[in-house]
Amino acid sequence: MDMRPDSRSLPDLSVRELRTLLDRREIGAVELARAYLDRIGEVDGRVRAYLTVTAELALEQAEEADRRLASGEAGALEGIPMALKDLISTRGIETTCGSRILRGYVPPYDATAYARLREAGAVLLGKLNMDEFAMGSSTENSAFAATANPWDLSTVPGGSSGGSAAAVAAGEAAFTLGSDTGGSVRQPAALCGVVGLKPTYGRVSRYGLIAFASSLDQIGPLTRTVEDCALVMNAISGLDPHDSTSSPVEVPDLTTALRDDLQGVRVGVPEEYFGEGLEPGVERAVREAIERLRALGAELVEVSLPSTKYALATYYIIAPAEASSNLARYDGVRYGYRSPDGEDLVENYLATREQGFGPEVKRRIMLGTYALSAGYYEAYYVKAQKVRTIVKSEFDRAFERCDLIATPTSPTVAFELGSRLDDPLAMYLSDTYTIPASMAGIPAISVPCGFSDGLPVGLQLIGRAFDEATILGAAHAYERSTDWARRRPELVSAG
Ligand code: GLN
Repeated sequence: MDMRPDSRSLPDLSVRELRTLLDRREIGAVELARAYLDRIGEVDGRVRAYLTVTAELALEQAEEADRRLASGEAGALEGIPMALKDLISTRGIETTCGSRILRGYVPPYDATAYARLREAGAVLLGKLNMDEFAMGSSTENSAFAATANPWDLSTVPGGSSGGSAAAVAAGEAAFTLGSDTGGSVRQPAALCGVVGLKPTYGRVSRYGLIAFASSLDQIGPLTRTVEDCALVMNAISGLDPHDSTSSPVEVPDLTTALRDDLQGVRVGVPEEYFGEGLEPGVERAVREAIERLRALGAELVEVSLPSTKYALATYYIIAPAEASSNLARYDGVRYGYRSPDGEDLVENYLATREQGFGPEVKRRIMLGTYALSAGYYEAYYVKAQKVRTIVKSEFDRAFERCDLIATPTSPTVAFELGSRLDDPLAMYLSDTYTIPASMAGIPAISVPCGFSDGLPVGLQLIGRAFDEATILGAAHAYERSTDWARRRPELVSAG
């Protein structure tokens, strides 16, 4: 029987399915890259996920992939078209971080995560839109464009990796990489109905990831299925001599952790994650998903994480403090944009930063500089670090009684474009449920768990440090018991 799908529907298949077709030589890598480029041409005018499309490079890389597939030397992701958030450095390809200040910046080296994807054979389609310096929850803080949610083009895709999530949802890449500092992989994954994993801090090298808050930043995959997430993690994880915070803890083959039931798994449910601000439609879908986990064999246990309510405030001290230091390097001399204005060097620095940074980045630099200044350092920064330790120890205690923790990913579904732009606090609240795991440095995945008012809802599963296997295994069992992973937004005209 000929299983070969027509080329217009190729972009809707999973990485695993595409690999099978490539291995059997039922499709070629060049043909596949062209199918994705066609899809981008067809829908990206409406979705605006891409800042740069590297069509020529993609076809070259795909030709190489075809040669390796033919000679039987194929890597695990050979020929799979993917794209990267525009803060992951790519040699010779503009990398803007969504900021005017880095417009025209072309990195002289590759991020380790990208280099590892290339070693595994993946093909680069381009660079994806994001909130400027990864600060935001809607991708509207991009200096270049607002990305739309493929499920409803009048709503946001979430952020800051909104381009990465929207591209996967719209079939504009087989998978993408984003980055997550306080929720920026998981929250857009939830809002766009795709799978998104924030790995344990240190699991994936940050070398070549443009820094926002270095003690929190992690690169993570956005995929259509949990199995695809495991495949991408296998390729990008592990120790890197270029990043001293990358971990030597051994990386297991995560595809072997995927399971079909949850016998013997204890799932913690923290009531602190089901309070004020949670939309009823989201709560309903998440509670049903947790019941499904029970039906699959899991034992549900109540756990308590009482400091959850302090996590957001603490994050908005620590992350801006680190950002104010990391962003000091953008002076117009070494990278990207340089203002033509200013009588002397200092005036030129000031003009460059005034013109180069957008309002949210300036707000964070001011918040962070204030929190670190003499006289306020003890009251804000040191106190925030103490709360961070408490948040982490509460997770440690909870994990004595359970193997993973289930919560909503985002308190709401996708909101209207523009609706939170004048209210930074409302925007910050998008990350209420994702920030605690970031502060604790532990892994967490968002997996689609239904719809509310026609928009996707995400279930978050949080695990112990370096135990991506358990949350991927449980997410897989859940995914297999539903058909959410097969739903696609209606963007492409039938034909
Ligand atoms: N939305 C959060 C913020 O604006 C988290 C961003 C992120 O994870 N990069 O800081």
